[in-house]
Amino acid sequence: MADISCDLHTHTTYSHGKGSIEMNAAAAEEAGLSLLGIADHGPGHVGYGFKMSDIESMRADISASSDKHPGLSIKLGVEANIINRSGHLDVSAEEQKLFDFIIAGYHFGVFGEEPLRAAFVHAGGFMYGVTGRCTASARNRNTDLIIRALEENDIDIISHPGAKNPVDIREVAACCARRGTFLEINNKHGALTVEDIRLAAEYEVSFILGSDAHRPQDVGVVDKALERARAAGLDLSRIVNLKQT
Ligand SMILES: [Zn+2]
Ligand SMILES: [Zn+2]
Repeated sequence: MADISCDLHTHTTYSHGKGSIEMNAAAAEEAGLSLLGIADHGPGHVGYGFKMSDIESMRADISASSDKHPGLSIKLGVEANIINRSGHLDVSAEEQKLFDFIIAGYHFGVFGEEPLRAAFVHAGGFMYGVTGRCTASARNRNTDLIIRALEENDIDIISHPGAKNPVDIREVAACCARRGTFLEINNKHGALTVEDIRLAAEYEVSFILGSDAHRPQDVGVVDKALERARAAGLDLSRIVNLKQT
């Protein structure tokens, strides 16, 4: 059985997951989840974003799976992309109303409103991946992108903060606390790191564990994320989807 009651961060073949919505739903039921979120990559991702025209079909799949698994609630979300200085996500304010919840995160492969500037941001992330180093100005730039997105939109969850491009997690956590947005401890990526969990915990922010499953068998699997939360000494009652014993 999963350590969590709900897993909002799962991918399907509508972006680059390996399984269908029904396969994720069957896996969620098997894992004992009561709530499953489908959060495929937003349309701004060049490689594997879904199309807004897919939403009708996603809703139909969710409806069919909900009939098959009456004990499981299935919600449609999106993992929208943070890249624009304006704060706009790749899903507009109007389009956001089509979803039950909004996750937002930073990803390579998204070029947004200022493609050259986006390429510059990604180059910084690439160099960080190679050298493990990041300049203060790059860190500030990455942080500002998230803060503006948070202030411009009603984001429920920031996915894997700091993955692929470092941020000042204190500023992000303070803003999430103010906006009522959850910080994700992601099982697939190493973010939040143990150190970032410690720093973020200084603010009145809540945390959520996300499998970021790209295969049905990973739905509800958060063991690595939970291990980092424990290593950071986080008060586990601050994790909103952890089954409390
Ligand atoms: Zn992601
Ligand atoms: Zn994801």
